[in-house]
Amino acid sequence: MRYRVASLSMCALASLSVPPATASECHHHETALGVSRVLHVDTTDGPLFGTLQYEQTLDLEPKEVVLTFDDGPHPYTTGRVLEALRKECVKATFFPVGNMAEQYSQVLQEVSADGHTIGAHTWSHRNMRRLSKARATQQIERGFRAVDEAADIQIAPFFRFPGLKDSKAMIAHAARQNYAVFSTDVTSDDWRGIGPRTIIRRTMTRLRRQNGGIVLFHDTKRATATALPGLLKALKKDGYRIVHIVPHQTYDALRDVPTTGVPEAATVADLKDPSHTGTDDARAPIKR
Ligand SMILES: [Zn+2]
Repeated sequence: MRYRVASLSMCALASLSVPPATASECHHHETALGVSRVLHVDTTDGPLFGTLQYEQTLDLEPKEVVLTFDDGPHPYTTGRVLEALRKECVKATFFPVGNMAEQYSQVLQEVSADGHTIGAHTWSHRNMRRLSKARATQQIERGFRAVDEAADIQIAPFFRFPGLKDSKAMIAHAARQNYAVFSTDVTSDDWRGIGPRTIIRRTMTRLRRQNGGIVLFHDTKRATATALPGLLKALKKDGYRIVHIVPHQTYDALRDVPTTGVPEAATVADLKDPSHTGTDDARAPIKR
């Protein structure tokens, strides 16, 4: 959602735009997992987070976990994911696809109403390594604009590449735009068509190995929605703590700063792009 206000008030607005989420909000749920702390993320110069692909990750303590959900909003599954998170008083970060956000804006507004952080995941989930620099830039920028229009909170300048398929050119673009790029520390494999119990088992095994970290799910997957209540219980039982990440500056606040090299509008071909499949393929991440 756009707040067209003078830039002078942007700082104040930014501080109001992301509601703080603490475990204290959920004191009436004594048995809930809750949020142990809020981590403010500085997106200046486009930091890269997630040890699956990059050298560094978020500044997390052992056994701290950040839950992330890609590819939504979805009319059948996102609501179930939200319900599971709500029952455990947990806040997550969502990376919606632009054309999904446009089509299912009401679902996205349920995400924001629950106080989750919202980033972006391109306009139509194309493989960025196969696009020209101009087309890839348009995918990123149009994705952010569409999510921003559809959400009723100010979104975060948090970006995730479709299928985690990054490129040097688009990492450089993110750096110029001050978008944080999120890979992951732990994959749930929920895009591989596995069942809920396998999702829980693999996620917990990998979390134990990594001692916490960012976890990647898809709120478009029925198995994920089904797995989530059990997964959250398992996290609590094993002593993991949930960290809610929020940006230092919102996407809208950053947009008030002039940038260079960003095409104004998508091409006709991009506008008609039907290629979103709603699946991620993280099998071949770049190692660096
Ligand atoms: Zn995706």
